[in-house]
Amino acid sequence: MKKSFLVLLLAVLLPSLLLGFLALRNVQEQQIVLERRTAELYQQQTDKVATSARSLISEQRHAFAETLRQLLAEENATVLASHFTARLRTRWNQPAIGFALDEAGHFLSPTLQDAAAAPKIRQFLQENSAFLGGKATAPVYPVILEELNRPELTQRSRANGTSQTYGKKAFDNANNYPSKAAPKEALPPKNGPFDNVLPSQQRNVVPQQQNAPAESQVYGANAEFREFTAEGNEGVVNRFVQDRLNMIFWVRPFTARQLVFGCLLRAEDLQGLWPGLFDATLRGAGDDGQAADFVLALLDDKGQPVAISPADGRTYEWKKPFVASEIGEALPHWEAALYLRNPEQLQASARRQQRSLYLLIGCALVAIALGGGVVFRDTRRQLVLAQQKTDFVSNVSHELKTPLTSIRMFAEILHGGRTAPERQPEYLRIMLVEAERLTRLINNVLDFSRLDRRERRLQKRALDLHEVLERFWPGCEFHLHEAGFTARWESAPPPYPIVGDEDALTQVLVNLLANAEKYGGDRKEVILRSHLEDRFLCLGVLDRGIGVPGGEEGKIFEPFYRAHDSLASGISGTGLGLALAKRIVHEHGGEIFCQPRPGGGSHFTVRLPLARLDP
Ligand code: ADP
Repeated sequence: MKKSFLVLLLAVLLPSLLLGFLALRNVQEQQIVLERRTAELYQQQTDKVATSARSLISEQRHAFAETLRQLLAEENATVLASHFTARLRTRWNQPAIGFALDEAGHFLSPTLQDAAAAPKIRQFLQENSAFLGGKATAPVYPVILEELNRPELTQRSRANGTSQTYGKKAFDNANNYPSKAAPKEALPPKNGPFDNVLPSQQRNVVPQQQNAPAESQVYGANAEFREFTAEGNEGVVNRFVQDRLNMIFWVRPFTARQLVFGCLLRAEDLQGLWPGLFDATLRGAGDDGQAADFVLALLDDKGQPVAISPADGRTYEWKKPFVASEIGEALPHWEAALYLRNPEQLQASARRQQRSLYLLIGCALVAIALGGGVVFRDTRRQLVLAQQKTDFVSNVSHELKTPLTSIRMFAEILHGGRTAPERQPEYLRIMLVEAERLTRLINNVLDFSRLDRRERRLQKRALDLHEVLERFWPGCEFHLHEAGFTARWESAPPPYPIVGDEDALTQVLVNLLANAEKYGGDRKEVILRSHLEDRFLCLGVLDRGIGVPGGEEGKIFEPFYRAHDSLASGISGTGLGLALAKRIVHEHGGEIFCQPRPGGGSHFTVRLPLARLDP
């Protein structure tokens, strides 16, 4: 028994538990992969916004260079330099302050008169003359032109021969845009011309996805303006003045290499640029932006949104986007950020998936446990049955042997003529009783196996069972008296009309009465009771014997089951008598059961349906 339980445990339960555990782990891993994929997908969105932002800046730079080219075509460079501020204002619609410097870094424009006339220009000179004039270094973010993204713009500028990287080579190592996790080695060498690299800064947003770098990948340096203009043809240098981002576009025309034309744009004045920022991104997402489950925003260096798409009027935790990409040196410390409209959705679907898996595994385990239990119970029953059958064989042998032995013994005595004549009837009677017992036993075994194999067909016919009992009882009563029992038949008035097999029903009564005798104990009393109840005939066999142990009243009707073990009780038997009786009674549409008899003993009842009497 223990072995089969162990087999069940090792072969079924443990592997199922293991499989369940593996499935769970797999789902968790899947979840992580899914989250990572989602983050990657969304990261592509913010990367696109960042690229788009760089493109917009690049377009402005081109617009400035183009305007300058046209102006230079119209007038001499030196003349243009003297009034460049005013000329630029009239020719370019951006609120930029143009300036021109000579080789020594002196301002050719704006002039002091310009400054006196316009406070904006005055402020420009105050804030920038030292840096632009080459008299002081300042923390700056030089932009590598190739990396002002949009490949076609870069190509165009190359074709025009205007493209350049800084002659200083300092940032040339940074082949990838720094925002894409540029390795630290890509940093400008400390001992190079930009030896005053600014210390790296924390990003001003904390993206929620894993592995997002916490440090800004945008690098600045303390440098002089002249360090950029000395060797290059054009460029962009960004710097913060009074906490405001200023963009400086500059060009050294081929026709007048000694001059530097430039303009300063304040990022906060570029509001008009940003609305076009997201169009391409959302279209690129392939869902036309409709019902997107995220919101994109361009955040300035203070982490505040300057543009939002779609503008749903909601306020998000701007500094805690789901994913974010730095724009780069083109807009230092600005970020393209993505916010989930429904952050719980991601987790909810994960939780839902996990819950359904738990449920599935739970159900599978319960099913396995139940199935295992059923198999286990069945195995146990089979084992018990096998044991009972073994007992049965030995019991039957014993049952056969006992009467045979006594028959043989008395037959030998009679045959040898070794007994007084007056004892002979007694011996013959014993032999008869033993032969009857033998017959009964063999009948039981044969009938049971025939019924079991459905070979025995009952010969049912309409009969009055009272008449059957009248024929059957006297012999029985005599036999019981002989065995020292008081026996009586308490009979309700006839008739007891039923449709049944007389022999089979007699066999039921014989078995019940034989048991009453066998398990009759010391208070030798047997009652046969017959009465009508509703539309049933009830036959009761009552004794004052050892009784059926509590809880086993049902089991004793199972084949081979014996409530009183032969060894312990000393009463032999096959465990077939009641099983056979039950089958016969059921074949008659009736029922048989056993109850303890008040005052001791057992009370077996057979209920048979009455037949309608023919009129
Ligand atoms: P058996 O050949 O063992 O008597 P049965 O099928 O006739 O087989 O009875 C099954 C078991 O029911 C018996 O082994 C006995 O334990 C119990 N039993 C049957 N009749 C009685 C009774 N009158 N009193 C007590 N126990 C009984």
